[in-house]
Amino acid sequence: MENKLSTLPFDWFSEVSILKGVGPKTSEKLAKLGIQTWGDLLLHCPSRYEDRTQLTKIAQVTLEKWVVVQGEISQIKIEGKHKKRALITIEDDTAALNLLFFNFHPSQFKNFKVHAKLRCFGQVTVSNHQWQMIHPECDAALMPLPQSLTPIYPSVAGLSQSFMRRQIQSLLQQMPVQPTDCFAQKLTTLVSMPSLAQALSTIHYPLPSDDIEALHQRTHLAYQRLIYEELLTHQISLVRLKNEAQLKKRMPFDFKQDIIQQFLQDLPFELTAAQKRVWQEIKKDLLRTMPMMRLIQGDVGCGKTVVAALAALMSITNKYQVALMAPTEILAEQHHIQFKTWFDKLGFRCELLTSKLSKKAKCNILENITLGLTDLVIGTHALFQEDVLFKELGLVIIDEQHRFGVHQRLALGKKGEEALEPSYPHQLVMTATPIPRTLIMSQYAHLDLSIIDSKPSHRLPIITRVIPQSRRNEVIEKIKAVCANHQQVYWVCTLVEASEVLQCQAATETLALLQTTLPFTVALVHGQMDADEKEQVMQAFYQGDIAVLVATTVIEVGVNVPNATLMVIENPERLGLAQMHQLRGRVGRGNKESYCILLYKAPLSAIAKSRLELMRETQDGFVIAQADLNLRGPGEILGSRQTGALEFKIACLKRDEALLPHLHTWANFLMNELSEIEIAHMMRRWKIQASNEIVA
Ligand code: ADP
Ligand code: MG
Repeated sequence: MENKLSTLPFDWFSEVSILKGVGPKTSEKLAKLGIQTWGDLLLHCPSRYEDRTQLTKIAQVTLEKWVVVQGEISQIKIEGKHKKRALITIEDDTAALNLLFFNFHPSQFKNFKVHAKLRCFGQVTVSNHQWQMIHPECDAALMPLPQSLTPIYPSVAGLSQSFMRRQIQSLLQQMPVQPTDCFAQKLTTLVSMPSLAQALSTIHYPLPSDDIEALHQRTHLAYQRLIYEELLTHQISLVRLKNEAQLKKRMPFDFKQDIIQQFLQDLPFELTAAQKRVWQEIKKDLLRTMPMMRLIQGDVGCGKTVVAALAALMSITNKYQVALMAPTEILAEQHHIQFKTWFDKLGFRCELLTSKLSKKAKCNILENITLGLTDLVIGTHALFQEDVLFKELGLVIIDEQHRFGVHQRLALGKKGEEALEPSYPHQLVMTATPIPRTLIMSQYAHLDLSIIDSKPSHRLPIITRVIPQSRRNEVIEKIKAVCANHQQVYWVCTLVEASEVLQCQAATETLALLQTTLPFTVALVHGQMDADEKEQVMQAFYQGDIAVLVATTVIEVGVNVPNATLMVIENPERLGLAQMHQLRGRVGRGNKESYCILLYKAPLSAIAKSRLELMRETQDGFVIAQADLNLRGPGEILGSRQTGALEFKIACLKRDEALLPHLHTWANFLMNELSEIEIAHMMRRWKIQASNEIVA
């Protein structure tokens, strides 16, 4: 049969389904590994390598080591009816070796004959003073030994190693040896790099002389070649996003001092120095003709909302609408209440748009938005819905940004262009996650950064205690004391499974328990309740009508009730550090002493123990984020687990951290040096959407 491949020109982006030996079933399996194109297959890197390049004499093998041996078959014994067992002995000129096979298929041995030569790869062990190999890989054909190491690929059931090797090797042979590898050529002026073809050849078939440890660690230059390209392509896409945004023009806002002054005067506090600084940064952006794209980073409780309100006022006083997007309904509702108290008296209209509104109410709100009667719309993902048509959208604010996917964020930005009178809206995104600086530069290169680096000065530290569940009674006593003092309490139930349903069950049980033991109002809020119910409970809690709020982790982000001074977190050992920090940030928001009790289930593993201790010792979100980064990798911190925002094929922000500081300069350099087509190719290769597709 003619090789399908040999008749086709090599094309990185051809579908794997047209390869010889790849039918629809196999294509599906490959897709599970994220492999759709020939290029994807080439970028499917081995997880490790085996050295099968040397033949070892049987007498010279080291026990437990993986080796290739070869000898003549001296006996073949097949035993047992049901529990089959095959024992084959081979001998070379130094010694004999037993090969053992269990549960085999008879056809497996049809080529094995006494006196025939056999080559085996396996691990030698001793049994009854005899040397043996259990289930070695055998080959009766005695081809020349390979000259390179043998790659072992990550795979799924039904895709054998030999299939993967055959396909990848055949593609490597098809790949032009001297492709015009502009990326490597240009980059060579900065760092020396092998071409893509060279790098892939080393990655799939390294020579025994290559540094195997470096290959395993992916610090080998061959891997670095791919990692640089992936990171730089990503960086280029972000820089372009920014450049394109800056080309868009819009009318600069005027600074309406009277209204802003009045808003500030009505606040029950003065802005902190950090808030003032960030407000000035935002104001400066908004007075320009190009759209703002700014990220506000600030630890929980530092006061980001009021800064966002100032930005919103700039837009509204210039007769442009504002959209504020929050990741949960509870937070959206809370913002709605907060912004209404601020804006109603200034004569500006705020509306809450959630997915659970009645049809009629929703129609009403949508009409008001389109007519421009609504100045500020607050909502969750409902804001992305296509039927939301703004009259003139001037600013998009995204709270707790790391909770959203890149595409959701950008979809909202598009609303400005779809508006009745299209304009390119300013964008302000806020996050409480203290992201290490290098990560910011790589992940948010398209945003300018403002940091609120201090908290309002009257805040007292939150006292954190780590207590086993066997001392639950003491915790109940503490709750009684706090409530008797007219302060409020959160009791957070967590479970390993992210399943809301199970969390709700646990929370319902806790509610029953607390209701019978506490002489105060206890209520429950969880994600399965409908919006009205949730709002009622939250409203009652804000107003102080509820003393103890039992909740699932739905209250993790944003919720702000300064009179709540005690938080109990049940099973905290099941949460990530950053998540615990977020939760704990719900208390300590006023000027009273606050407590957080981590009520763990004994026994704790050593790691779990040290994590809870870290929580007790520090309240510095940055230290906690760094620890989370070390423990669990950047995906957790940036929330990509939920959003898929940070999935690299080969690069790893933690391992490759040393490269990050160079990315910006190098990306700018390459953008000038490479052609559009080359850049487009790189984007496709790494599956990064071209910037003009995702730019808002
Ligand atoms: P976060 O940054 O976590 O979103 P919020 O904006 O919800 O924090 O603010 C937390 C609490 O601090 C709110 O009750 C808010 O009113 C209050 N707050 C904000 N700024 C100040 C300030 N400068 N002085 C005192 N309290 C403030
Ligand atoms: Mg907030």
